[in-house]
Amino acid sequence: MNPSPSPSNLTVGRPGPTTLTSDPWQTHAAEIIDIREETPGVRSYDLRIVDAAVRTRYGFAPGQFNMLYLPGIGEAAISISSDPASPELLTHTVRAVGNVTQALGRLLVGEQIFLRGPYGQPWPLGELSDGDVIVVAGGLGLASQRAAILDIARRRDRFGRVTILHGAKTPSGLLYPSEYDAWRQAGIDVECTVDATEEGWTGSVGLVTDLLATLPLDPGKSGILCCGPDPMMAGVAKGAMKRGLGPETVWVSLERNMSCAVGQCGLCQFGPFFVCLDGPVFRYDRIEKLLGVRCL
Ligand SMILES: Cc1cc2nc3c(=O)[nH]c(=O)nc-3n(C[C@H](O)[C@H](O)[C@H](O)COP(=O)(O)OP(=O)(O)OC[C@H]3O[C@@H](n4cnc5c(N)ncnc54)[C@H](O)[C@@H]3O)c2cc1C
Repeated sequence: MNPSPSPSNLTVGRPGPTTLTSDPWQTHAAEIIDIREETPGVRSYDLRIVDAAVRTRYGFAPGQFNMLYLPGIGEAAISISSDPASPELLTHTVRAVGNVTQALGRLLVGEQIFLRGPYGQPWPLGELSDGDVIVVAGGLGLASQRAAILDIARRRDRFGRVTILHGAKTPSGLLYPSEYDAWRQAGIDVECTVDATEEGWTGSVGLVTDLLATLPLDPGKSGILCCGPDPMMAGVAKGAMKRGLGPETVWVSLERNMSCAVGQCGLCQFGPFFVCLDGPVFRYDRIEKLLGVRCL
């Protein structure tokens, strides 16, 4: 019988976490520079690492996350949603759901928190260059993809057709609507859909999978970056397969309860993987069979 995987044998042979210092546990003070209300219960925080030397060394790739730490309260994994070309200001878009995120919601511009990171595997933008990119986002999932969108917009000539398909429960739940015009001007198509309409909404009503079903696409040169609830990501992947894309051309970003973020505690174990080290971005064919399995 095979021994059950434990944190120690799971980490053997894996790359270590990508961190800004040699000590992956080290936290750094960061000042809140700006706070923006995005949608009801969701705010973006622009953070600047206080120590200038650490700030200068810090870099991240789209899709990676930081652990945000409030002393006496706890830590939470939050995607970095700003432009990787400007890492001196780190945006985190946060839904206030529990201890850390609600306490963060009580802080003001000028106050300090702590962060460590960046962690995790990023979106595979290098593999997708020259090809068509379809970003599929459900609700707050777009926060983990915004850095990739800003990166693509800045290097737009390196990609083929780029489309964002964003779905939310209601029109007021669509994330970053004030940025869609700039993304369109950069040559990125943005299509939105909602589950339930509100007064004044003239756009699509339905699921993002419906948008994907009718999107003109070339299966031979397209890649999909998907983030949202697990059933939505499974639906997008299946819809993509129906359109002729292979499972190796779809990437999903998984959200799991996480504690250490450095492959030691095992809380985010997902089958043979640790989401903190092997993810959060996974190629769909690697995790297809695990996606429907209930987690902690
Ligand atoms: C890679 C990654 C990226 C993320 N990016 C973002 C982001 O950009 N924005 C964002 O808002 N969120 C993001 N999250 C989610 C965020 O980390 C969680 O919502 C986190 O739990 C919030 O911390 P909290 O202390 O505020 O809430 P918690 O107090 O942890 O509670 C959050 C909810 O999860 C439940 N819960 C927490 N831990 C457990 C557990 N062990 N067992 C059962 N239920 C549990 C709680 O009951 C509660 O309903 C990300 C998560 C991951 C893994």
